Amino acid sequence: MHVAIVGTGYVGLVAGAGFADLGLKVTCVDIDAEKIRLLGEGKVPIFEPRLEEIIRRNVERDRLHFSPDVAAAVKSASAIFVAVGTNAGPDGMPDLTQIWSAADLIAASMDSYKVVAIKSTVPVGTAAAFERRIAERRTRSVDFDVVSNPEFLREGSAVEDFFHPNRIVIGSASKRAAAVMKDIYRPLYLIETPFVFTTWEAAELIKYAANAFLALKVSFVNELANLCGAIGPSADVHVVAHALGLDRRIGPKFLHPGPGFGGYCLPKDIRALTQIARRLGVEYRTVEAAIEVNDRQFLRVIEKLKKASGSLAGKVIAVLGLSFKPNTDDVRESRALKICEALVAEKSVVRVFDPVAMGQARRALSECSVTFCADAYEAALDSDALVLCTEWNEFRNLDLEKIRRSMRGDVLIDARNILDPAKAKSAGFRYDAMGRG
Ligand code: NAD
Repeated sequence: MHVAIVGTGYVGLVAGAGFADLGLKVTCVDIDAEKIRLLGEGKVPIFEPRLEEIIRRNVERDRLHFSPDVAAAVKSASAIFVAVGTNAGPDGMPDLTQIWSAADLIAASMDSYKVVAIKSTVPVGTAAAFERRIAERRTRSVDFDVVSNPEFLREGSAVEDFFHPNRIVIGSASKRAAAVMKDIYRPLYLIETPFVFTTWEAAELIKYAANAFLALKVSFVNELANLCGAIGPSADVHVVAHALGLDRRIGPKFLHPGPGFGGYCLPKDIRALTQIARRLGVEYRTVEAAIEVNDRQFLRVIEKLKKASGSLAGKVIAVLGLSFKPNTDDVRESRALKICEALVAEKSVVRVFDPVAMGQARRALSECSVTFCADAYEAALDSDALVLCTEWNEFRNLDLEKIRRSMRGDVLIDARNILDPAKAKSAGFRYDAMGRG
């Protein structure tokens, strides 16, 4: 079976490499010619653990190809996966420009029966509109089926998630299309991955509901941390959250406090869900509250810095970690960047370091005057305060005494609660974290 992936970003590239590794012949296409050129030269434009080795292996075995030619890829494929971006529009609803442009390119090139699976996260009703659009614009009278196949991978463990997903959701009324999808995913079916066969609309909603529920958990634990912080050291949020997570109805995941959730998906998807609901006359109050809490949470870090240092004007602040979470170079909606921007607005001198996201962060912070440093120690040099924003493993074992000696001040804000408070204090820091008194 030959499949085409339209949109070779975080989702499309991982899915393309993953399908190739399952034995399918895959062509990944993208309108970004530079990205395709880099991939053709064996360079992987994103950081994702294990991805490079899987791409290399499947290119060598002639199962994985990269091309700017959507028409050729569509013609040779039995199934086409659409994994283009769905950025938030000004009203919070996704801007579907890339989706419609993909539909038009596919419609113009189809020359035999195709299954077109939408992997991008799209509002309820998009698969139906996508099918109408292709039907109206196809240049040959060939059959096709549209499937909603939302993606749940987590950046940073996307390869692991591709091969061991919690579930695969297939929204389609067509038995023929469902059979093609089952065939594509058969190796995962054989390892007993749960499959949910449903309607387009339910599949579209499942994706938004999953992200909204995760957002609720994060905002819940962040408010719990704020409450624990107000109670004092006798109510450490880690103890409270750990005991909470031992309840099997709640579960331990997504109960780690921090500066709020970021990334490409959660912030835009939960805003979209509230808009989808509003347009149907439904208020989704819990999700709206999760957004409100999250919008304020990174400001807690600024408040902590002010409490410890007074005015931040002229203060040198080192920010460690810029990606929205560890093991990715993705800085989209990263709270670390919001913290940097807020500090620059306070007229602080900001020095930053991230193990892999420096390139992306340079582009994202091009309007914001921060100094990019070679490592955590260089960032901390002569600074008044240090803020740990992303829980990269390499930050867990920093030489805190060396850092403290090189700093002008003694403030350490651990916005991810990854350091040992006792060690930080014995290194001479005035240490503060989220919800630890
Ligand atoms: P991305 O921005 O990294 O990649 C999208 C790619 O599509 C870009 O390379 C872009 O050039 C390309 N593109 C746009 N229009 C095109 C067209 N007409 N033809 C060919 N290529 C085109 O985005 P992403 O992070 O991979 O996300 C893609 C979708 O998957 C979004 O809807 C997102 O919400 C969803 N999703 C993302 C994640 C994640 O963790 N990133 C997880 C699950 C779902």
